[in-house]
Amino acid sequence: MKRWLMDILACPVSDCRSELQLEVYTSHNVDAEGEDVEEIDEALITCPKCERWYPVIDGIACMLPDGLRMDGKQRKEETAFLERWKERIAPEIKESGVPFGLVS
Ligand SMILES: [Zn+2]
Repeated sequence: MKRWLMDILACPVSDCRSELQLEVYTSHNVDAEGEDVEEIDEALITCPKCERWYPVIDGIACMLPDGLRMDGKQRKEETAFLERWKERIAPEIKESGVPFGLVS
């Protein structure tokens, strides 16, 4: 995802819709019609209001409703994301993140 996308993204939870915070873990620059644009590969998006977190995995911001994150393939991918970046992710998220954290 492009970094500027953060300017228009809001928390998808219907009674929240807050502005979001971004912590970039990996990114690369691409040339977009002569302009250098930052393409984010992996990052953590957090909502300061409802305290949810959302991952950016492989350049895609995964901002699904809780119900679709809790199990199956999505849960597996998002848990792997938390594992991958656990050294950099805040302890609150790992311990009691919304909708889930890293259960040790
Ligand atoms: Zn929110």
